[in-house]
Amino acid sequence: METVAPFKEGIDVIKEAGGEAFKFCYQCGMCDTVCPWNRVRTFSIRNIIRQAAFGLSEVEGEEIWRCTTCRNCVQQCPRGVEIIKVGTSLRRIASGAGIVPDPIHIATASLRAEGNPLGEPRAKREDWTQGLSVKTFTEGMEVLYLPCCYLSYDPRLRKVATATAKILSTAGVDFGILGVKENCCGESARKVGDEELFRHLARENIKTFIESGVKKILVSSPHCYHTFKNEYPEFMVNFEVVHITQYLLELINEGRLKLTKDYKKKVTYHDPCYLGRHNGIYDEPREVLKKVPGLRMFEMPDSRKGSLCCGGGGGGIWMDRKKGERFSDLRVEQAIAGKADVLVTACPYCIMNFEASRLTLEGSEAIEIKDITEVLQEAI
Ligand code: SF4
Ligand code: SF4
Repeated sequence: METVAPFKEGIDVIKEAGGEAFKFCYQCGMCDTVCPWNRVRTFSIRNIIRQAAFGLSEVEGEEIWRCTTCRNCVQQCPRGVEIIKVGTSLRRIASGAGIVPDPIHIATASLRAEGNPLGEPRAKREDWTQGLSVKTFTEGMEVLYLPCCYLSYDPRLRKVATATAKILSTAGVDFGILGVKENCCGESARKVGDEELFRHLARENIKTFIESGVKKILVSSPHCYHTFKNEYPEFMVNFEVVHITQYLLELINEGRLKLTKDYKKKVTYHDPCYLGRHNGIYDEPREVLKKVPGLRMFEMPDSRKGSLCCGGGGGGIWMDRKKGERFSDLRVEQAIAGKADVLVTACPYCIMNFEASRLTLEGSEAIEIKDITEVLQEAI
């Protein structure tokens, strides 16, 4: 394969992106050991890092697009190498040279044109609220609810937005949405190396938040959570950001949300990478589920810090992964092996991937895939 190298320029881009710590790598291989790719096929982020150190990375091939930014390797690296940043920097180089896989090109073009990666018109962004009493956000409301692109448009995930709105209304929360003024948070755009697009989306959102008098933002997607909380402060702003799992626990503990109906099912909870490993939110979703009357819970292998990535992060949600290369198949199989009635999670990408796996796996007809709000909706 031809290589854009040796590329001193490339090394500089990696350094600028904070990936300079690649030079501390001493090739222990721990990153490869924990990488979910090595459960389905051979993949070496260690080799990519080594090549980057010598300015010899290939940016034309498929390998740099495999990382799902799950953070398992970063968490394990004894030398503090910011592996995701190195990988993202290589994608920035590829993106700058126009070498981008087609599905990513299509998604980013849609983000530019309509503010969402799904090719849907901006004008339909708030259609999910039809039949619900969801207001437009105005200054002074308790919270702005941002459902994310997938919950706004995808028919399966609109059920999650609906469940969330019903729960908030039941708990008496004074909330509103921005509707057509909403844009994608830009998280995946940044992770596929389109920094300019990320910054454009972030600036647009921040402008809207400020003009609308937003102080507190409630999100359903861990990707939105991560971006608003950890990346938007780069623009010198600080909004209070809450993930729905945290907010549900707060509402229950304050007595605003009462769970009264039995949910007599055996469930297991899957930790989304951007909620767990990226942001340390492991306990709140479990605490919420434990408060549901009648619900029985068990832990799958590879939980909490070692959670098995669904494959959706880092632009993975836009890629067409062939059978045999889907981490989500392995996760659904773990839930089935534990005899779960319901595999619960709290991330739209995880739900999309698990639902896709469920359709093709043997013995998966009996298992349901649910967002945590869909479980709670049945218990109120
Ligand atoms: S775990 Fe860290 S030090 Fe070890 S090979 Fe991977 S990047 Fe290098
Ligand atoms: S972030 Fe996850 S997918 Fe990417 S290289 Fe590390 S372990 Fe593998």
